Amino acid sequence: MDLGLKDRVALVAASSQGIGRATAEAFAAEGCRLAMCARNEKALHSAAEKIRKQHNCEVFAEAFDVTDASAVGRFVRDVAQKFGGVDVCVTNAGGPPAKGFLAATLEDWQRAVDANFLSTVYFAREVIPYMQRKRWGRIVTITSITTKQPVADLVLSNAVRAAVVGLVRSLANEFGKDGILVNNVGPGFTATDRLKELAKARAAASGKPEQEFFEAWAADAPLKRLGEPREVAETIVWLASDRASYVTGQTVLVDGGMYKGL
Ligand code: NAD
Repeated sequence: MDLGLKDRVALVAASSQGIGRATAEAFAAEGCRLAMCARNEKALHSAAEKIRKQHNCEVFAEAFDVTDASAVGRFVRDVAQKFGGVDVCVTNAGGPPAKGFLAATLEDWQRAVDANFLSTVYFAREVIPYMQRKRWGRIVTITSITTKQPVADLVLSNAVRAAVVGLVRSLANEFGKDGILVNNVGPGFTATDRLKELAKARAAASGKPEQEFFEAWAADAPLKRLGEPREVAETIVWLASDRASYVTGQTVLVDGGMYKGL
């Protein structure tokens, strides 16, 4: 199936590892020109170089923190200057720490709002004018299954991700007339470093082995396994493609069926 993404400019935030990196690779495989960013310069440039070689594609990579609004602005302008615009923007950042409500500090709350909500606002503000000029654009936010049901000990994610969904629906309403589609993807338990951190935190708190948590997460999904980053990435690429041209304002879960609501 031709996804119609060849030569599109795809920006993927927080993409040195995990779901972000798999997403960058998936866009490269479709023939996109790629812009990547993450905090860790070495990990980012090594990921960018591998993608460049494997897919023989143009990759622009810059290390910065997505909670820095002016750095986001500079990056988007640099990408637009290099590639002539931004067609697809995937927003992403590391997830907030696993904590219950009373254990979470006010600094934790501020960091979660900055990284998991405001960074999305920063990217959207910067990329939308470029998309309006071309009358074509796709914004896909990466959040979590917590947008549909709270997960134990993830109060920061449970609360802050909901704001992203409100933003996604608002942007979809406001910019549909400009040909800009805005959707949200919520991963379930996906095999990345983030999940290892979560297992470690739970093991430390409970005294149980980490493996038990991985097994319980897998058992919770009807597909009886964890998700792969590639599986989240391919859903994001589809949403960004011409094949999803009448889908906007939606949250799509990639969770192996774990969310059981109607
Ligand atoms: P990960 O920890 O493996 O990778 C996170 C990436 O984000 C890395 O490239 C890191 O450098 C980058 N990053 C983190 N904070 C940043 C910042 N402030 N500025 C710039 N770059 C930053 O995480 P992952 O598992 O790929 O998860 C991606 C997102 O999906 C997270 O928000 C996570 O909470 C969410 N999520 C993950 C799972 C899962 O099971 N893995 C489930 C639900 C939701």
